[in-house]
Amino acid sequence: MYKLLKDLFPICRSITGGGNRQTLKMLNQEIPIKIEEFQSGTQCYDWTIPDEWNIKEAYIENETGTRIVDFQDNNLHVVNYSEPVNGTFSLDELKSHIYSIPEKPELIPYATSYYKRDWGFCMSHDQLEKLKPGNYNILIDSTIRPGSLTIGEAFLNGKSKKEVLISSYICHPSMANDSLSGVVLAVQIFKHLFMLKNRRYSYRFVFLPETIGAIVYLFHHGKYLKKYVHAGLVLTCLGDPNSFNYKCTRQGNHELDEIVKHVFKHSGHECAFHDFFPYGSDERQYSSPGFNLPIGSLMRSIYGRFREYHTSGDNLDFVTEDALNESFEIYSKVFNALESNKRYMRDQPYCEPMLAKYNLHDTVGYIDSNDNKDAITRTVILKWLLNYSDGEHSLLDIANKIDISIDQLSVVAGQLEEKGIIYSV
Ligand code: ZN
Repeated sequence: MYKLLKDLFPICRSITGGGNRQTLKMLNQEIPIKIEEFQSGTQCYDWTIPDEWNIKEAYIENETGTRIVDFQDNNLHVVNYSEPVNGTFSLDELKSHIYSIPEKPELIPYATSYYKRDWGFCMSHDQLEKLKPGNYNILIDSTIRPGSLTIGEAFLNGKSKKEVLISSYICHPSMANDSLSGVVLAVQIFKHLFMLKNRRYSYRFVFLPETIGAIVYLFHHGKYLKKYVHAGLVLTCLGDPNSFNYKCTRQGNHELDEIVKHVFKHSGHECAFHDFFPYGSDERQYSSPGFNLPIGSLMRSIYGRFREYHTSGDNLDFVTEDALNESFEIYSKVFNALESNKRYMRDQPYCEPMLAKYNLHDTVGYIDSNDNKDAITRTVILKWLLNYSDGEHSLLDIANKIDISIDQLSVVAGQLEEKGIIYSV
């Protein structure tokens, strides 16, 4: 994951343009990606797909011809979607086009101007303060022309047409935690689920520009998603060293919310839970009232609430391989739990089966409950399963009653299923 993130990091992405296509092409070397292009000028609900933005180079030169700011050094130096400009400006004229953050003087801000034609440069406040009066040569070699908006999609078929939606965004330039960490984690999850035998759900992965991309995607595929999406997650901010945060689905008590709570209870990792709020990332579109899809967002730091957010501080040093791996470990537990959270029925529901007859009466083996306070024998677990395999209770309900993890419980359920004592409904 970290290697892929490192390879993707230097690309200048936006809501449209060659950087997004290059990003999807690189993802396609990892997993099979289907690419869809949506023409500029197309109306999608209240929005219009903008003209496509591409940029070759940009710089600010001082009077001696020294480049004091260069897009090649850091693509954050140019306001994303800047229109082309080539000319000489005094410091005062230039200053009205320069963005910096006085409170974070050493960091370059990430700024965009997607829907208002403008141009600008971003630099650290420290650098801005050192600029001497005089004339500066400016070049932004960009184009804003009719083209298209690019969306990538990967799909894994399951037994059910019911889908789990995994959404990440590819519109940020060199930003490691916000955006890219979610993209590389989605790729890793695809690989994990690809290996899963007898997948129960189908899985749809989308890689799109935030907001406008989700709106365009929903405009074209929303009715289908409304019918088939069982749950979904927006993946972002998963590589920083902070502890986890989970933004619940708009429903708030969806199976996905219960699973994430359960996974953290048995994982030994900290997680703060937040009710759905209507700002943030693309869950805003997926969970808009017309679609109302149950989409959660499991992050480490929450966007907007860490110092490095939308600055040059969100870089390859801020994201660590360990944090990405830990995030993947949690995500794989969430998907495994979702896959195994079935409801069972007893083949013969009257009284208890005679376990010894099935070679299931176990007096020796112990399974520790996760906190190791008390050991629960397999026999005890069997009795819970046999009693609650009534078609009403899910494996998660039963696991919570016993206070063991669903992955432990599903092993025992598998044994009962193999003997023909229970079956999933
Ligand atoms: Zn962002």
